[in-house]
Amino acid sequence: MFLWFDSPAEFHSCAERYKRSSAKIEKHLERLDSVLGYCNVCENVRTMKVSQIPVSQRTERVWINLREGFICECFATGRNRISVEAITESLGQGQNPRVLAIERLTHFYKVLYNRFMERLTGCEYLGGDRTPGGTYEFQGADVRHENLLALSFQDETFDLVFHGDVLEHVPDYRKALRECARVLRKGGVLVFTVPYFDIPAHIERARMNADGSILEILPAVYHGNPISEKGSLVFMQHGRPLLDDILDSGFVKAEIGFNYDPFQGFVSNNNPTPEGHMWPIVFRAWK
Ligand SMILES: [Zn+2]
Repeated sequence: MFLWFDSPAEFHSCAERYKRSSAKIEKHLERLDSVLGYCNVCENVRTMKVSQIPVSQRTERVWINLREGFICECFATGRNRISVEAITESLGQGQNPRVLAIERLTHFYKVLYNRFMERLTGCEYLGGDRTPGGTYEFQGADVRHENLLALSFQDETFDLVFHGDVLEHVPDYRKALRECARVLRKGGVLVFTVPYFDIPAHIERARMNADGSILEILPAVYHGNPISEKGSLVFMQHGRPLLDDILDSGFVKAEIGFNYDPFQGFVSNNNPTPEGHMWPIVFRAWK
C-alpha cells in the first residue's frame, strides 16, 4: 500500500524514517545476482535479477541502480511494478477507464495493453516533422505520434493518463502537465513517475531557446529512449516544488505516493548522493 503525501515536508519526514533500514537492505541487495520476490505485474513470486551493470552518472562512485536494474523474469522493473501498483490503487473497483499512456514501444505498454485492451491509447514522440494524432510505422508497429506539449486529443477524453519518466525530458514540463489536465475528465487522474529528489529546488540542466536550440546549463545527461539511440536529454531534475507546480497546472490535488516494500521490489534507486537518490515513489494528480 502507498502512503500518500500532499506536502513535500511530510514526505521528507516519512522518508527520513526509512533511511537507515533502506541503506542496509539495499547494500544487501546490490551484492546479490538475484532474489525471490512478488511481482505485481506477472502476479507471482518470481526471480528478480539484480543488474550488476554499475552506473557512474553524476557521481564519483559507481552504484547499482535498483530502480531500473532490479528486474523480474517477466521484464518488469521496479519502476514498472510501482507504476502498476499506483494505477491499480488510483482506479475505482469495476471502473472501465479510458487510458492514455505516453509510451507505445515499451514492454510496459504491453503490460498496460493486457489490462486495458482497446480502452488504452499509447503514443510516442516521433519527431517534429510528424503530425500529432497521425499513425506511422515505426520499428514494425503502428505508432501514434503525439507531442506532450500539444496533444491532439479533445478536452476531457481520458479517465487516466500515465507517463513514466517522461517529464524530465520535456522542454516545458509545466505545459506538459497542463496538457495532461486538459485531456482528463473532471475527477480523472494523472499517474506518473519522474526522477524526483528530496531537494529544496529543481535543478535545471538544459533549456530550449525560442528558436528551438538547446542551451546546456549543466553537463548534458541522456536517458534511454526506445525511439532514439542517442537517448533523451534531461532538462530538469525535479525537487520539492513539483507538487506546487502540479497544482498550478489545472489539478485540484497533487500527491507523492511512497511505497517501500523490498519483497515486491519497491526500493530506492540506491544512488549515494542526495541530488541523485530517489525513493520508490509515484506522483498522482486529480483533476
Ligand atoms: Zn514479473
